[in-house]
Amino acid sequence: MNACLASPILQTRPMLIGGKWVEAASGEVLSVENPARRQVIAHVPRGSAPDVDIAVEHASAAFSTWSKVVPRDRGLQLLRIADALESRLEEIARTIALETGNALRTQARPEAKLAADIFRYFGGLAGELKGMTVPLGEHVLSYTRREPLGVVGAIIPWNAPLLLAALKIAPAICAGNTMVLKTAEDAPLAVLLLAETCQAHLPDGVLNVLTGTGPECGAPLLHHPLVAKLSFTGSTAVGKLVMQAASERVLPVSLELGGKSPCVVFPDAHEDWVADGIIAAMRFTRQSQSCTAGSRAFLHEKIYDSLLDKLVQKASKLRIGDPLDEETDVGTIINEKQFRRVCGYIEDGLSQPNNKLLAGGLPPTEGPLSEGYYMRPTVFANASNEWRLAREEIFGPVMVAIPWTDEADVIRMANDSHYGLAAYIWTHDVGKALRTAHEIQSGWVQVNQGSGQSPGQPYGGYKQSGLGREFSLESMLDSFTQIKAVTVNLTR
Ligand code: ADP
Repeated sequence: MNACLASPILQTRPMLIGGKWVEAASGEVLSVENPARRQVIAHVPRGSAPDVDIAVEHASAAFSTWSKVVPRDRGLQLLRIADALESRLEEIARTIALETGNALRTQARPEAKLAADIFRYFGGLAGELKGMTVPLGEHVLSYTRREPLGVVGAIIPWNAPLLLAALKIAPAICAGNTMVLKTAEDAPLAVLLLAETCQAHLPDGVLNVLTGTGPECGAPLLHHPLVAKLSFTGSTAVGKLVMQAASERVLPVSLELGGKSPCVVFPDAHEDWVADGIIAAMRFTRQSQSCTAGSRAFLHEKIYDSLLDKLVQKASKLRIGDPLDEETDVGTIINEKQFRRVCGYIEDGLSQPNNKLLAGGLPPTEGPLSEGYYMRPTVFANASNEWRLAREEIFGPVMVAIPWTDEADVIRMANDSHYGLAAYIWTHDVGKALRTAHEIQSGWVQVNQGSGQSPGQPYGGYKQSGLGREFSLESMLDSFTQIKAVTVNLTR
């Protein structure tokens, strides 16, 4: 397969099943669009149930040998994959930018680097797949083993496709599982490059990567009788379907779902770096298509106007444009459906009594930015935590700023959501910061920064934001192994 996708040229890209690059059994294809130009750039197989069957059978056959490879030897292959990914980082990053519309410099390149880092991190942890001994007495040896589960069925979304694929593949195969991974309809191309890189270092069938739609290809994977574990990242609505499918066969399931994360700013935090941090937390440079976007800004009344002023000035300076241009900070929304959805939220905000649109708004209808699904960072002031914009995950660059005066009240508002993924707190007072961090019902709280996730730090949601953790040693052990206890009578 020719791996190079340096320019938006129409290509047909096969999927990976049992070590072979194949078309869909049906012969049908899906189109992949460059959202910056609204042009089709590639076709991929439209995988469905027969393809899922073959892929799972290959993964199941590969499991019997892969699971018995010495863990550190498996880890070594991951380390080689990390090196190989690094050697083609630019090609992969450009592919991400082309298919997702995420800016090359601010998003796609860092994502490609992080994906390689994830393989390196988990590759180094292979020796930590340890069990323990249980002190049952002098005449008994009781010990535990961390055993792999079998075939993992993984489904990922389009917003950070390479990173999320790496986060499923690396810990799962390091722990001795095999995998069938379904890519997202809108962003399969970089993940196919990742699959190609992995395939060069793994036995056939250990990793199978399918392209196709959720209902046609994802659903049969969820329900396949030989799949032993489901790992899903995407919307809460589909996450619930994954959990239902898992319940049929009592399968373990990991879910990384949506968010509506609060930024709580205390009155002593009003400097420029706070505004920069809130912009970073809001993920404006990924068009806020991130489940950790800090999209509800709770600013203390005393600094509400002055901090918003700084924030809006800085957000308005972000450069929106062609994702492949090195000067670009902010790229495009992924597709027309999502673009219209985000516009709908902006219209909803504009229809609220007393709303105050401080930045952005509906996208331009003429000029170069109207060629793609571009949207400007949008900030609504005078917002209420009851607005639909404050309650639903928009997955677009629309932030609401809500004033507060009472500490207990702001914590109540921050927690008044069925989501609980991330939160951000801004203050110089360490006691206040940590008190608030402990009160907030979210899986990840950052104080005085709005950074992205790092390998080693357990990441996942409270409430309807998910189940299980990713990014860490615990995630590999808890999500991708099962514990067997062996008890031996030493007197016989
Ligand atoms: P998003 O709105 O971010 O696309 P989704 O949850 O709809 O989030 O999609 C995430 C992933 O889930 C995609 O790979 C999609 O194809 C898949 N998916 C969507 N619907 C289903 C379904 N019914 N069964 C299995 N997978 C699905």
